[in-house]
Amino acid sequence: MASGAEDESKREPSGLDSTTAQELKKHAAAHLWPHWARERTDGRGDLRIITRGEGCWVFDEAGRKYLDVRAGGVCAVHCGHGRQEIAQAVYDQIMRLAFFKEDGFAHAPAIQLAHAIAQIAPPGLSRVFLTSTGTEAVETTLKLARQYWRIRLGHGRKMKILAREGAYHGATYGAMSATGMQWRRELFEPLVPGFVHIKKPACHSCQCDKSTRVGMACIRDFEQAVEAEDHETVAAIICDPIMVAGGVIIPPAPYYRALRDLCDEKEILLIFDEVISGFGRTGEWFAGSHWGVVPDMIACAKGVSSGYIPLGAAIVQERLYAAFADDRNPLGGFRHGYTYGGHPVACAAGLANLEILRRERLVERAKAMGSMLLQGLESLRDIPLVRDIRGVGLLVGVEVGESPTGGAGGTKQTAALGQRISEALLRRGVICRVPSNVLAICPPLIITEEEVTFAIGAVREALIEVGTGN
Ligand code: PMP
Repeated sequence: MASGAEDESKREPSGLDSTTAQELKKHAAAHLWPHWARERTDGRGDLRIITRGEGCWVFDEAGRKYLDVRAGGVCAVHCGHGRQEIAQAVYDQIMRLAFFKEDGFAHAPAIQLAHAIAQIAPPGLSRVFLTSTGTEAVETTLKLARQYWRIRLGHGRKMKILAREGAYHGATYGAMSATGMQWRRELFEPLVPGFVHIKKPACHSCQCDKSTRVGMACIRDFEQAVEAEDHETVAAIICDPIMVAGGVIIPPAPYYRALRDLCDEKEILLIFDEVISGFGRTGEWFAGSHWGVVPDMIACAKGVSSGYIPLGAAIVQERLYAAFADDRNPLGGFRHGYTYGGHPVACAAGLANLEILRRERLVERAKAMGSMLLQGLESLRDIPLVRDIRGVGLLVGVEVGESPTGGAGGTKQTAALGQRISEALLRRGVICRVPSNVLAICPPLIITEEEVTFAIGAVREALIEVGTGN
């Protein structure tokens, strides 16, 4: 196993000769427009080209080997790289039927995948609307909520969407309007009307009484928002059960129960964005199960196909579907769809991936490896930069800060600290971009004990190096 990416003796064949690599870098600088560039120069600096992947590891053009503890950068690659059976399923599906979409027709992979997802979804969530991305899945749930209430009530007044500060829900206008991160929205205003943001449950830094529902400031904020907006105008609340963008936030037990109860009381739909937390990452198929809370809809993506082919889904309570299907519904079916939603090749990849997750018991594995990771990281509390360590399954956050109270997310200093930490990790052969003051460690679910130990060692060394300057 590599102990440092810069160690020349540890390099492996990259499959790319140096002339081609140089040419690719030139073309990238000339033509490739990077996503989510914060700085004008993002992506134009020292670009590394990933040439192949194997299990939890990826290799760059120089043959440097990295443990990818961000599972593809966006917590997607659950079953690891290089799965022959997914490749075979994709090949077979392309040869059988590459693509088809027409009203009144369906194909086997979409039907089988909808069935497979319904088997593992929480009770009642048995209707599956397939998409290609997480953003599309979120967008689907938001539009569905608005049309649902129009059908039920015969008017469009119940249309507001509550969402939480700090959350990321996607890049299109609806999903972006739900997103609670100013820098991702501010250049694109005006946003979609009817979105209201409430406080996130930042319990690790909040002093309120978390043992009861009434004591929790974030629940009070939700209640007050519902009152202030008038619950008869609120269609839904969307939340990611474990908020990663907001800093790997794990609310205490009463939080989601209270949210569910309030939603029931006020007739508000509860949407869980499980784009990151779904399909086993937290040690349950869906993270809401940790609190025994069943939402009305789940938006998911990433782990459903382990990122092999773009795929997502909105998983919906049958009761909501029934309102659309009811003969007395004057508004007809759901006026929403995507050309590539439920693409046969993507569904084939998804089915093969779910089979691997099930057969290799990777959800249980995420739980076991996650507690090993969390326990190991606990030993870092003595490092001055470390503010907090928290996690569920293989979704673990290490909060860092240079000031005694920790850094505020999003500030220039915090970003610079994160950058120094991710560079120190990269030199040790670990890919973990740190965009805020929290290292989100979320490796593929197949990670081994040896790899967990390696990751913890690298994080320890990187934090000491950055904290002390050596
Ligand atoms: N919701 C959450 C919680 C996410 O993390 C993401 C992507 N990181 C999305 C939605 C959007 O998914 P996608 O990028 O596949 O559109």
